[in-house]
Amino acid sequence: MTVTSFNPPLRTLMGPGPSDVHPRVLSALARPTIGHLDPQFVAMMDEMKGLLHHAFQTENPLTIPLSGPGSVGMETCFVNLIEPGDRVIVCQNGVFGGRMKENVERCGATAIMVEDDWGLPVDPGKVEDALKANPGVKAVAFVHAETSTGVQSDAALLCRLAQEHGALSIVDAVTSLGGTPVLTDEWGADAIYSGSQKCLSCVPGLSPVTLSRRAEDVIRGRNHKVQSWFMDLNLIMGYWGDSGASRSYHHTAPINALYALHESLIMLREEGVENAWKRHARMSKALVAGLSAIGLEMLVDETARLPQLNSVKIPEGVNEAEVRRRLLVDYDLEIGAGLGALAGKVWRIGLMGAGATPKNVTLCLGALQAVLTDMKADIGHGDAVQAAQKVLMA
Ligand SMILES: *Cc1c(COP(=O)(O)O)cnc(C)c1O
Repeated sequence: MTVTSFNPPLRTLMGPGPSDVHPRVLSALARPTIGHLDPQFVAMMDEMKGLLHHAFQTENPLTIPLSGPGSVGMETCFVNLIEPGDRVIVCQNGVFGGRMKENVERCGATAIMVEDDWGLPVDPGKVEDALKANPGVKAVAFVHAETSTGVQSDAALLCRLAQEHGALSIVDAVTSLGGTPVLTDEWGADAIYSGSQKCLSCVPGLSPVTLSRRAEDVIRGRNHKVQSWFMDLNLIMGYWGDSGASRSYHHTAPINALYALHESLIMLREEGVENAWKRHARMSKALVAGLSAIGLEMLVDETARLPQLNSVKIPEGVNEAEVRRRLLVDYDLEIGAGLGALAGKVWRIGLMGAGATPKNVTLCLGALQAVLTDMKADIGHGDAVQAAQKVLMA
C-alpha cells in the first residue's frame, strides 16, 4: 500500500466547531517555527495577552492561551480553584454542565447540581436557592453558551449571585467568546475559559483563559498541590508570567498554533469585538428567517437563543443522518447532529467566527431546502434563501 500526503477536501464547516478557519490564520500557521523562549516569540506572547484582553473585555493579568483544547481550559479552572472537600454548585442544562460535574468530583469535591431542561437557560432563581441552602460553597460553575442545545444563560446575573454569596464563578465561554458578549470585568467573573476553534475561527487545540486577581490569590493560597502537574497555573505562570519577567521552561508551547491564534485575534480586533457580536446576531437572524420560510422550527426561544449555534427541530419522518450525509457529499457542507438527549431531534447549525457570513447562510439554506425537497420531506413551500436575503439586505 502506498501512503500519500493527506489532502483534506475543502469543506464549509457549519457545525458546533471547528468552524471555518480563515486563510490568513492558516497561512500564519505555516510560518517558520522558532524557539519558544526566542525573544521574538516572547514579544508575540505579550502581544497575544493584549489581544486576549480585548476578546475577553478584561484587564486581568492572568489572561493566556493554554496548550490544549477547550476541555483543558475547563479542567485547568477546576483543578486550580477546587480542592478536596470543597462544595461547588454546578449548573447543568446540556452536555457540558455534565462535564463540569465530572471535573468537580475528580477534584475530590462535591457537586451540588442545579438542573434545567435541555433547551432552557440556567434558572438564576434555582441558583440563588442553592446558594442560600448551601452556605460556604467554593464556586458556582455554569456554561454561558451551551453548544449542545444552542442556549445562552445570563452570565452577568449568575456571576453576581456567586459574588454576593462569597463564591467564585467559573464560566464556560468556549462557544461564546467572539460570538456574543463576554464581559469578564463587568460581570466580575473569576475564571473564564474558551476554545480556539469556535467563534475565534482558529485551528483547534488552544484554550484562552482569564482569571481574576481573586482567583489568582485562591490558587496561590491552596492547601494542597494542584493534582495535575501540566495544568498547575502556579507553574504555567512561570512561563507566561508578567511582561518583561524572565520565562522558565514548563512545556514546549505549540508555537505555530499560537501564531495562528495571534492572527485570528488580530482579525477580531480589526473588526472590533462588538462588531463581531453584531455580525453573528445578524447572520443568525437571516438563517432563522430562511428556516422558518420552509416551516422549520428552532429549539430555543428567541430570548435565550445563541446566534452562533442554531438548533433546528428535525421535521417529522426525515432521515436526519441522510440529510447531513448529502449536505457533506453533495455540498461539502458540514452541519452538526444533536447531542445526548437531543440526538435525532435537532440539527445544530453553527455560524461561528469567519463562518458567520451571508455566503454561508445562503449556501446552507439553499442546500438544505434542495436536499429536503428531493427527499420529499414535508416542509413549507417558501423560498429559504430569499427570506434570508430579505434580512441581509434590510
Ligand atoms: C466545544 C466545547 C467544549 C470543549 O472544547 P474542546 O476544544 O472540544 O475540548 C467545552 N464547552 C463547550 C460549551 C463547548 O462548546
